[in-house]
Amino acid sequence: MKWLILVLFLPVTGFSQSDTAGKQGCDLLIKNGRIIDGTGNSWYYGDVAIKSGRILKIGRRLSFSAEKIIDARGLIIAPGFIDVHTHLEGDEHKDPKATNFIMDGVTTCITGNCGSSHTDIGNYLHFIDSLRLSINVATLIGHNDVREKVMGRVNRDPTAQEMEQMKAIVDKGMRDGAVGFSTGLIYIPGTYSKTPEIVELARVAAQYNGVYTTHMRDEGDSVIEAIEEALTVAREANIPVEISHFKLSGQQNWGRSKETVPMIEAARKKGIEVTIDQYPYTASSTTISTLIPEEILAGSQDSVRLRLQNPEIRTYVVDAMIKRLKKRKLKHFSYAVVASCDFDTSYNGKSIEQINRMLGRKHKAKYEAQTVIDIVSRGGASAVFHGMSEDDITRIMKCPFNMFASDASIREFNVGVPHPRGYGTNARVLAKYVRDEHLISLEEAIRRMTSLPAQKFQLHDRGLLADGFAADIVIFDENQVQDLSTYSHPHAYSKGFMYVIVNGVLTVDRGQPTGARAGTTLRGLGWSH
Ligand SMILES: [Zn+2]
Repeated sequence: MKWLILVLFLPVTGFSQSDTAGKQGCDLLIKNGRIIDGTGNSWYYGDVAIKSGRILKIGRRLSFSAEKIIDARGLIIAPGFIDVHTHLEGDEHKDPKATNFIMDGVTTCITGNCGSSHTDIGNYLHFIDSLRLSINVATLIGHNDVREKVMGRVNRDPTAQEMEQMKAIVDKGMRDGAVGFSTGLIYIPGTYSKTPEIVELARVAAQYNGVYTTHMRDEGDSVIEAIEEALTVAREANIPVEISHFKLSGQQNWGRSKETVPMIEAARKKGIEVTIDQYPYTASSTTISTLIPEEILAGSQDSVRLRLQNPEIRTYVVDAMIKRLKKRKLKHFSYAVVASCDFDTSYNGKSIEQINRMLGRKHKAKYEAQTVIDIVSRGGASAVFHGMSEDDITRIMKCPFNMFASDASIREFNVGVPHPRGYGTNARVLAKYVRDEHLISLEEAIRRMTSLPAQKFQLHDRGLLADGFAADIVIFDENQVQDLSTYSHPHAYSKGFMYVIVNGVLTVDRGQPTGARAGTTLRGLGWSH
C-alpha cells in the first residue's frame, strides 16, 4: 500500500525534495542522550530513531519526523538488559507486566535454569506468546524435569533406553526453540546423575548450537570439583558453558574466589568457552529443604514426610545438619530466613532461629534443626541464606566474562518476603558497584548486562544499540539509579529507569510502568518452523 501511494504521488511532486518530503518518519525518536551502545565503548551524544519495533537509525543529530519524541538530556541510553538467569515457570500469569523486571531495566529473561523447565518447549513458548508478557522470553530445557519425566525421582543411572528417551526430549526441546540445556545438580533428581549422563545430553543441545548452563553440584566445600565437572561437560560435549550464580557458599569458604576465578581464566586460555553470572548480593535464596541431607529427599513429598517421621532418620538428619552448621562456624540457624511459607505465612521474613523461639522451643541448634525438619515435612518453604562474603562478590564482579542475573521470577507485589535480587539486581550493580564503589565502569557494566548475554545465548538482534536491531532500550539517570528492595522490605521497585522500551513500545514512561506488554518469545538456533 505504501508503495502504491508513493508511485501515485511521484509525478505530482515531480521528484522535488521539499523539507517534509525529505524527512523520514519514525515512531519514536530519542534525542540528546548519552549513548552507551553495549559494546563496552565509551558513551557518545546521539539520537535513536525507532520504527516498527526496530532501531531504524542511530547517530548524531538525526533528522526524523516522529510520532513521539523523548528528550533524554542528562540521561544514558543503553540496550535493554538481558537477565540470563531467571525462573519464570509458574509465575508468568501472576503479573504478565513483569513489573519487577521492567522497573529494573530488564527487557529479556532467559528462563528454564537450574535444570528446571517445561519439558515441552514448543508448548511453553506458545503459552508465553498467548500470555503476552512485557518482557521477551527465551528458555533452556532443564535436566531435572527431563530426568523426572523419564525416570521419576529415583537414585540410579538411566538404562540405555531411558537415556535415549531423555535425549529425544532434549532434541525436540532444542528444535522447538530452547536456547540450551540446563542442570541443577544439587536438586533431586539431577543430583543422582553422573557426569557422563550430562555430557550425553549436552551433546544433543550442542548439535543445535545451544549453551550448557549449570547450577553446579556444589558451591561450597567441593566447589573446585564442581567447576571441574562443568568444564569437563563443556570440553567433552563441545558446548559453551555458563556457570550460574557463581559464588562461594558457607563462611568456611570465604575468600576462595582466589582459587575459583583463576580456574575459569585458565580454562578460557585453554579454549573452553566458559562464562559465569552472579547476583550482586551476599545472601542466596532457594528451598529450605537444601538444609537437609539430599538422600532423605528422594521420592514424593509424601514419602519424604513419612521418612522424616522415623525417629532414627530424624536423629540422623539433625546430626548431619548440626555438623554442617559447625563447619560454617555458626551456633544457630539465624543465617537461614524463610521467604515464603504456604502453610504458615507468619514464618515469612523470620529466621529459623526466630521461628524456633516462636514455637516455644529451646534456643539450641538441635531444636532449630527439628524446626527445619517440621517445615520440610509440612510442605517446605523458600528461604534466604546469608552465607557469602563481599570480597568474593567483588572479585567475581571484576571478571570480564561475568554477567549479572537476578536468579528470580516475576514477583507478585507484597507477597512473601522474597530475595531482593528479583527487584534490584541491575540497579544495585549500577548504583553500588559502578557509581559508589567504582569497581567497574558504567560502559563495562552495561556491556555485561547486554551484548555479552546476547552473544552467549545467540540472541543475534539484541543486546546492542545498532541500526536494524530490536528496539529494546533503557534510558536512565546514572546519578539517580538505585535499588530500593531490601531483605526486610523487598517489595520495592528500582528507581532511576526513566524509560524502558520493549520491541519499540514504551513500557516505562517517565519512571512509571505503562502496562504495555510488547514482549515476544525468542527462539534458539535449532528452531525448525
Ligand atoms: Zn540455581
